[in-house]
Amino acid sequence: MNYLPINIKLKNKHVLVLGGGTVAQRKINNMSVVGAHITCIALSFTPDIIELANKGIIKIQHHDLSSLSILDQFKTIDLIISATDKDIINQSVYQYAQANHIWVNTVDQQDLCDFITPAIVDRSPVVVAISSEGAAPVLARMIKQKIEYLLPLNIGYLASKARKLRNKIKQAIPEFNNRRRFWERFFQWSHQSQTVLNNKFKTKNQQQINQIIDDVNQTQGKVTLVGAGPGNPDLLTLKAIKVLQTADVVLHDQLISAEIINLIRKDADLVDVGKQAGNHKTKQERINELLIKYANQGLHVCRLKGGDPFVFGRGGEEILTLAAHKINYEIVPGITAAVGCAAYAGIPLTHRDHAQSLAFMTAHCSDSIDTIDWQFYANNKQTLAVYMGLIKSEDLVNQLIKHGKSPDEHIAVIENGTKDTQRTITGHLYQLLDMIKTHHIKSPALIVIGEVTKYAQQLDWFVPQIPYTKSVQYLKSA
Ligand code: SAH
Repeated sequence: MNYLPINIKLKNKHVLVLGGGTVAQRKINNMSVVGAHITCIALSFTPDIIELANKGIIKIQHHDLSSLSILDQFKTIDLIISATDKDIINQSVYQYAQANHIWVNTVDQQDLCDFITPAIVDRSPVVVAISSEGAAPVLARMIKQKIEYLLPLNIGYLASKARKLRNKIKQAIPEFNNRRRFWERFFQWSHQSQTVLNNKFKTKNQQQINQIIDDVNQTQGKVTLVGAGPGNPDLLTLKAIKVLQTADVVLHDQLISAEIINLIRKDADLVDVGKQAGNHKTKQERINELLIKYANQGLHVCRLKGGDPFVFGRGGEEILTLAAHKINYEIVPGITAAVGCAAYAGIPLTHRDHAQSLAFMTAHCSDSIDTIDWQFYANNKQTLAVYMGLIKSEDLVNQLIKHGKSPDEHIAVIENGTKDTQRTITGHLYQLLDMIKTHHIKSPALIVIGEVTKYAQQLDWFVPQIPYTKSVQYLKSA
């Protein structure tokens, strides 16, 4: 950044505008709005400039600027805008300004500028300034148009109303976090409101304001259980982003990617509750305790989980605990790993010819391996998505084959699905262990078993799948 945007108070400051054409006129329009005392000097003026002078809004002086002696008559000059079409005049104005320590802006000549003026979206008192530091004015204008579209016209009115309400709200809502939540709800606008542009009365009425005050003053907070999807931030829901940007505290799992963590409101408290396998019980109890503790402090807690919170995410257990403690909660679904990984690997999870059903399973815990209905999972014409399957992959292969699945069944192993680091290895069921070993597959990885996985060879749009061609011997363990 080479130029620092600052908002200057120009009220009653003396500004000289040199030149009387349309460019000068544009600058005069901006400066007169903020109450600058403007004198415009030129040989001739546009009708609009003359009209402003006739109305007493600015002063004009007819003068040939090839001599700058006229400038000596001014006791104080705070700023100069040099908007003549003569390079030689602009040059000497610049030298004059430098010699007299006056800040100068020469229109369209950045090397003769002490300051440059940004494009402006004016919804006073909300003002957005956009600058490309002179590198790409057209881009700045395009950004301006986008922001114009994004900001409802009545946003300035909202801000003015907020200024009037500030003291009252400070008294009515003494707690800082509650106050922040009040303002977030006060300023919330929907995309539909843009079509009701300029409708001043779209802002909250007194009854609504009182309702928000009551809501935010409630001592009990709430927990929002949010599914963050499989890792690619583009796959977050709009609701998930909204919660990430408003929650007071975020408790997140290890699997949550750095890009998603980056979307969390900067002054929210972050708690990494990444669980270590084998130590689930105590950890889960601790997480439940934390959720209750923060919610009871009146905070908005976001419990952020990979994928979908209700798919192998223990979301159900957490919500049951909250319900038992009468804590308010809401649930934001996320794209579960099977759905995300399959899409990014080019595997249609169901297909009329190959799979009429889809099963999500996990073969994670040794005690659950024996209770699994393997007969059901060994069914043909069904796609199996196996979560947390790396550790017990040997049991998985053995049991499925023992219950009738063909060792030649097509499979895919998708590591880091949907992220830039995604790898998709395709092969056959009997090769699974070898595929994992040879390619050093690490968690998180999803194993997909079923005929549909062969489509990855044809539909691998995101990263090329790697076919596993090594012929290994399938050894049944005892
Ligand atoms: N609630 C999550 C699952 C949590 S269990 C969901 O709905 O997706 C964690 C397991 O999910 C991992 O061991 C892995 O099998 C799978 N998984 C999660 N993210 C993944 C990713 N990006 N790529 C591959 N597998 C993933």
